[in-house]
Amino acid sequence: MHNQLEIPLSLIQILHRAGRVTVLTGAGISAESGVPTFRDAQTGLWAQYNPEDLATPEAFRRNPQLVWEWYAWRRDLVSGVEPNAGHRALAELEQRLPMLTLITQNVDGLHQRAGSRRVIELHGNLFRTKCLEEETLVETWEDRGEIPPRCPRCGAWLRPDVVWFGEMLPTAALREAETAALSCDIFFSIGTSTLVYPAAELPLMALRSGATLVEINPQPTPLSELADFSLRGPAAEVLPMLLP
Ligand code: NAD
Repeated sequence: MHNQLEIPLSLIQILHRAGRVTVLTGAGISAESGVPTFRDAQTGLWAQYNPEDLATPEAFRRNPQLVWEWYAWRRDLVSGVEPNAGHRALAELEQRLPMLTLITQNVDGLHQRAGSRRVIELHGNLFRTKCLEEETLVETWEDRGEIPPRCPRCGAWLRPDVVWFGEMLPTAALREAETAALSCDIFFSIGTSTLVYPAAELPLMALRSGATLVEINPQPTPLSELADFSLRGPAAEVLPMLLP
């Protein structure tokens, strides 16, 4: 196992020979853009709340106004930041490699803003809204000053189109992600603690089907021991080093 910030030549060679590359990203890749991970301390008004107690269906039913406002705050935060060198390096790799599948647990849309064209969003997107009851996407609604606003069709509350703790992942996205994990030559796990299932299962599926497993994270995770290469550094520093 390699543990230094220099990229081992053998990894560069494997990457250049790889036909299929699959990448899984988590909140850590956006940390250097200024988007806090759930494990970072929250700031300001929201410091008193634990995100894992806000991002649940129960929390929304208990206090929909609080949860809606937390998401509104996160949307504002993300709107004010830029993709970083890590997001940009992945967009560049998508152009240069024969087949790169990018799977993200993030809901911030920063990969797309950095230029990645195909992104499998496992946990939805902060900037989409859906009806709580019908689950259909809703793009516009009348602002009657109500928080959360109401579905223009059925009058139920609107909610962010994200996957909350305890909810099912979108079936098609998960299936596509699993296929990409099972059929790749090399799998990158970047900026994720690999504690949140079922996304955490993807690197293990890749490993079992014979892929080279690479982790990029400044901190060790349960995956570090299993990875062929564990690159302990921030994604925005390490990923640009993979570009030829
Ligand atoms: P997580 O479980 O994906 O953990 C974050 C990981 O990122 C940690 O292992 C940490 O060591 C690592 N990390 C921190 N800085 C890094 C850097 N500069 N480069 C690389 N790795 C770095 O994420 P979580 O915060 O525990 O969130 C749980 C769920 O909530 C996930 O679905 C997550 O994606 C989502 N979430 C998304 C966003 C976002 O869209 N930006 C933000 C917060 C949480």
